[in-house]
Amino acid sequence: MKYDVIVVGGGHAGVEASLSCARMGAKTLLVSMLAENVGATSCNPAIGGLAKGHLVREIDALGGEMGLITDEAGIQFRILNQTKGPAVRGSRAQIDMDRYRVIARNKILTTPNLELVQEMVESLIVEDGKAVGVKTNLLNEYRAEKVIITSGTFLRGVIHVGEIKQEGGRFGEQSSVGLSESLRACGLEMGRLKTGTCARVDASSIDFSVMEKQDGDEIPSPFSFRTNRDEFRKTKKQIPCFIAYTNETTHNIIESNFYRAPLFTGQIEGTGPRYCPSIEDKINRFRDKDRHHLFIEPQTMENTECYINGMSTSLPPDVQQQMIRSVKGMENARIVRYGYAIEYDFVDPRELKHSLETKKIKGLYLAGQINGTTGYEEAAAQGLMAGINATLSLQGKEPLVLRRDEAYIGVLIDDLVTKGTKEPYRMFTSRAEYRLLLREESADTRLSRYGHAFGLIDDEVYAKVKSKNEQIQEGLRLLNETIFTPNKEFIEFLESMGEEKIKDTITAQQLVARKSFDVEKMLKLVPELAKYEPYTLEEILVEGKYSRYVQKQSEEIQKMKKYLKVEIPPSFDFRKISGLSKEIVEKLETFNPPTLQAAMNISGITPAAIEILHIFIKIEQ
Ligand code: FAD
Repeated sequence: MKYDVIVVGGGHAGVEASLSCARMGAKTLLVSMLAENVGATSCNPAIGGLAKGHLVREIDALGGEMGLITDEAGIQFRILNQTKGPAVRGSRAQIDMDRYRVIARNKILTTPNLELVQEMVESLIVEDGKAVGVKTNLLNEYRAEKVIITSGTFLRGVIHVGEIKQEGGRFGEQSSVGLSESLRACGLEMGRLKTGTCARVDASSIDFSVMEKQDGDEIPSPFSFRTNRDEFRKTKKQIPCFIAYTNETTHNIIESNFYRAPLFTGQIEGTGPRYCPSIEDKINRFRDKDRHHLFIEPQTMENTECYINGMSTSLPPDVQQQMIRSVKGMENARIVRYGYAIEYDFVDPRELKHSLETKKIKGLYLAGQINGTTGYEEAAAQGLMAGINATLSLQGKEPLVLRRDEAYIGVLIDDLVTKGTKEPYRMFTSRAEYRLLLREESADTRLSRYGHAFGLIDDEVYAKVKSKNEQIQEGLRLLNETIFTPNKEFIEFLESMGEEKIKDTITAQQLVARKSFDVEKMLKLVPELAKYEPYTLEEILVEGKYSRYVQKQSEEIQKMKKYLKVEIPPSFDFRKISGLSKEIVEKLETFNPPTLQAAMNISGITPAAIEILHIFIKIEQ
């Protein structure tokens, strides 16, 4: 059987990869171990969050599916960091994880050009250094021009619960051993990582009345630019989460069982996510804290089973039971599923080009957790890009490589393929140098043109994005062109809004840049703006506020682009540069990069170090 593209694995990367290929016209086969679990959320029942929300918006703007499914399956929507600057706000949704899977599977099964088959891929077929297909456990052989592997945590997966250790890709699912060996045989550099999840508790055994309630936003915002916002806000049904706390007793139970924790006994060797530690790790590292937050999150709209966010663990079942029951409100908790840790193989992402194609095997693309990342959103973003690039390559076109100043997806892929990773990589806003340019709300105006060009965003949606962009530009022009003089009438007007006086002539844009200015005040200043929709007004306000910084960042990007081409003389003595750390000097000496761009690509070399290096090279010339 011959296809254009074969996608292995129907997790978040596989869903986006297979849909994008098929929608771009490639005859696509998705091979996944369990059809039931296509689009399954292995860990928490939530999508988005800080920086991850940005990724979802970007996936959506490019024509991916995650935002749309989340809007449909979401049961609580919140914008995090509401009080902080718009660049670091993040949308997050609790989802009905059963519903999410059903929607994802239905999309796969109803998309033209796309077939789903439930089988396990045992090996890759490689001929003359090119991936040409896969062999499965049912001895089927499928052939294609391109193969995308998105096998998540399944490669030689080993599950740990206390002293119990068993093979598995996720609890209750098989580990993918053959495929891992096949990738190794291709000469790909591989490593081992670890992640973990918490116990799920029967909701009827929890006393929510003694916990703090956490509601969604009063006016929920959808993830997708394609969801009708007004309709969504009117009709979206939301349910609450609850907050509980660990206490001294919980900590004592955990501490006294450290000797049974696979994390400490040497049973687990893979590196885990530093910023998403297990509860035993938290107690070990932060002994002085007298309590830790727990978020009790419903897994479905019916709220019959809860995810205990903050209590990821691989302690033995009896200890999990005791520690959960020590929490106020969970004294009678009945565990439905125990928490566990999983170790798995990943491929060093430095084996990949920016297109996500491997350097060693032509036509082979990797996306998702297999590349050392963690998180649904990181996986989905890579899946979409691998799907787009595999299909572009089939069409004889150049790959889409998003720049770091263009998208968080650009930052994610650039970090992975140039720097690699030693621990599960997750996205943070701090990883993006140009985050003011990369706001969640601007994802559509930044990226939809690509989605449209590839046929993933339809004409009608794209026309709306274009018109929104034009309106924003027109609004900004109005702000810049509206000038006020400090006459009595205007000063009184400012005072009536509780605003400080002005001494000199000022533009509306300069006034809007004041922290105290919101949309309401902006409309008082420039009433002509009232013709725009509320969402467009928000963007005009934000762009108006930050235009000076955005301009500065754009200039910095231009400057950086120019100087990255600068050559480093072959005999350059890095040691004489004061201001560079010893570690950075050693790295530069080891790799001896010929240009600043090559230096930038070395893992651990920061933009600040590049700037210092640039100054010294210039002085020497
Ligand atoms: P997955 O979602 O793992 O999907 C892989 C798919 O590939 C599955 O459908 C599988 O059946 C299929 N597959 C694998 N091998 C084969 C094969 N040989 N043939 C056919 N099909 C195959 N993320 C976080 O952000 N924070 C966390 O705290 C966190 N904790 C986690 C804890 C656990 C125990 C697990 C399992 C995952 C956790 N994750 C966490 C990770 C999150 O689930 C993943 O990042 C995300 O699901 C990765 O998506 P993916 O598409 O790469 O792979």
